Amino acid sequence: MSHLTLVSNRLPIRINEEGEVERTTGGLASALAGAGIPGDYTWIGWGGINEEEIEDQDAYIKKLNDVGVQPVILKTEEFEAYYEGYSNSTLWPMLHYMKGRAKFDPEWINGYRAVNKKFAEVIAKAADKDGQVWIHDYHLLLLPKMLRELRPDIKIGFFLHTPWPSSEIIRALPERNEILEGLLGCDVIGFHTYNYLRHFNSCLLRILGIEGEAEGLWHGDRMVRMGVYPIGHNSTGFHEAMQSKTYKEALELHKERLAGGKLILSVERLDYTKGVPEKLEAIRQFLRQNPEQRSQVNFVIIAVPSRVGVEEYNMLAETVQREVGAINGDYGEVGHSPVQFLHRGFPMEELAAFYALAEVCMVTPIIDGMNLVAKEYIDCKRKKYNARAGVLILSEFAGAAQEMSHSLLINPHDTQGVVKAMEQALSMSDEEMWSRVRAMQDRLARNDAGAWAKRFLGDLTESGTTDHDPDAHETLAEVEENLTKNLASGRKVALFLDYDGTLRGFVDRPEDAIPDKSLVDLLGRLAAHDSLRLAVISGRPKTFLEKHLGHLPIDLVAEHGYYWKRREVGEWELMNPHVDNSWVDVVLPHLEWAVTLTPGSEIEVKTSSVVWHYRQADPEFGLWRAKGLLDELTAITASLPVSVHHGQKIVEIASQMVNKGVATDFLMKDWKPDVALAAGDDQTDETMFAITPVCEDHFHTVKIGTGSTRAEHRTTIEGLRNFLESLADTLSNQS
Ligand code: UDP
Repeated sequence: MSHLTLVSNRLPIRINEEGEVERTTGGLASALAGAGIPGDYTWIGWGGINEEEIEDQDAYIKKLNDVGVQPVILKTEEFEAYYEGYSNSTLWPMLHYMKGRAKFDPEWINGYRAVNKKFAEVIAKAADKDGQVWIHDYHLLLLPKMLRELRPDIKIGFFLHTPWPSSEIIRALPERNEILEGLLGCDVIGFHTYNYLRHFNSCLLRILGIEGEAEGLWHGDRMVRMGVYPIGHNSTGFHEAMQSKTYKEALELHKERLAGGKLILSVERLDYTKGVPEKLEAIRQFLRQNPEQRSQVNFVIIAVPSRVGVEEYNMLAETVQREVGAINGDYGEVGHSPVQFLHRGFPMEELAAFYALAEVCMVTPIIDGMNLVAKEYIDCKRKKYNARAGVLILSEFAGAAQEMSHSLLINPHDTQGVVKAMEQALSMSDEEMWSRVRAMQDRLARNDAGAWAKRFLGDLTESGTTDHDPDAHETLAEVEENLTKNLASGRKVALFLDYDGTLRGFVDRPEDAIPDKSLVDLLGRLAAHDSLRLAVISGRPKTFLEKHLGHLPIDLVAEHGYYWKRREVGEWELMNPHVDNSWVDVVLPHLEWAVTLTPGSEIEVKTSSVVWHYRQADPEFGLWRAKGLLDELTAITASLPVSVHHGQKIVEIASQMVNKGVATDFLMKDWKPDVALAAGDDQTDETMFAITPVCEDHFHTVKIGTGSTRAEHRTTIEGLRNFLESLADTLSNQS
């Protein structure tokens, strides 16, 4: 595997007792170890102190480099705008559906941009050629695009650890376009659940107008893949922890203290997304409604302090502490307080002991990207480590709920529902608890943190399809050689060239896309050669082609093959006088009905096709209607001589008797060339590429631009122009 660079807001380092920098083995690092990724990857991120606090920058960087990490050095002001401001006061609440809590300050996005840019610059300098970069989380949403601009050679993956909310939320962000564009700089974008991916796709459609598929989309000339990668917990770490002395001691100590009482555990960072006040309300109601349980239960709430100093978080801590005191005041007894609030973090060994002992674990966030506590709790239920049976109460708004169907799923807003789940949990038999636990453990074992990292990096390695074919020029050079060789020995060569997007670039108004003098000269020079015949095959009306190219000694095909003007005839004719267009009357009512049902859509009737356009309709609604229309049309046109195709914001029904492929085939049969070339840029040109001509082994097909194709070669408008110029030069030298 090529060299890996991990990027996250914060570097995994700490200062040890001797004042030296040490790399810590947090979640991500152990995930990579579990995935079998060797530890020689580089980690880039913020080191925890700002420029003003660093005395000697070179020494600081060196010290960090020595443990395999590279700092991004930020000024305090910049850091505050980026981290406390835009990341945590704007994005964090928005990504968690809490629009009301989000604050907006134009200075913050400037800081966010500047810091993402600094990250891009540091990575661009450090990353190996053709290496892989894996970026983490919402602090760095703009980074992928910025990095790609600096280093197009590297593969860029991004994983979002939070939810991705509905487009209704993202649309409210002033920087919504920039953020989506930022992420589209990736080769792979990963989410915890399908729901988040679905919402992301909907944002692309509604905000940028891009129609993605479930698996990914073409963005410019690159494929951006999207995937669902539910993160797993550090299973290896917890299993090791449960074999430690600390674990055994903690287990004995707490067992003794519980003295036969039941342990109902909660573990979370004290964040407003975690729903602690709502949980306390459910606990209060439970104690009120179950007086006989008051002396039996021990609600232990481990709340790890988070964003200390930020006013909103300080207020949350105060509210929670006050309410815990009030509940104990109302329902406590001498020597027993039903709720214990531990406002601090515990090491893994002690946490594992809590998990092992708890009869119930309450994971009840209002919303949570994944929630690892739920997974850790279930994994720690191991008889071999003297764990007790237990049951998980889990919020359906945690990403983990998608994978943990054997827990008691609750809606944290439904207080009575939570109370009922608590009653059910406390009366559940050990047998049922164990059977639920085992059902989930099997899945967790297969999907731990290592498996997660392995799947993501596997997809990143395979990604990176681009339309840049490094051999394209060379392959066209070979085509040119073949053509000139054949012409030199008197064999016949035919060229079939589409017009818009192939010989001429697109402009806003189609009537302005007239051929320039050099193009007209070029076509004339090519057609002057005795053994070469050239046809321009276009969807344009015959009047346009006649006006601009009618004087040249070439063949013209208009309206996708409905009319043609052959060189030797010199007049416009219907290509196939027997074309039957009576099918139009059959399909038209269906399109008219689609227009009635879909505001903003319209019908265009062409000579040999009918098109339903929905560019002006609501994008999701239009797409949904288009799919319905396609099903309907497929059924009713089964016995009609038409083809139905779903293109860019259109559904087109076209006569099978008229298309560019049929036209090319007719001309081929007439001319009988020894070598032929067809070039075109869009879906209608694919019919040319699909024919099997007389000169089958010498039929060269060339796609202009991006997108999937059945053509053999790919180039740009300029690439084709150069190729044709060079061919014309060689021909004039030959004659
Ligand atoms: N954790 C810990 N010590 C504690 C409490 C929690 O190490 O005292 C860890 C816990 O094991 C889990 C993480 O903190 O791995 C919390 O992750 P989660 O996904 O549940 O929530 P987040 O804080 O990422 O929103």
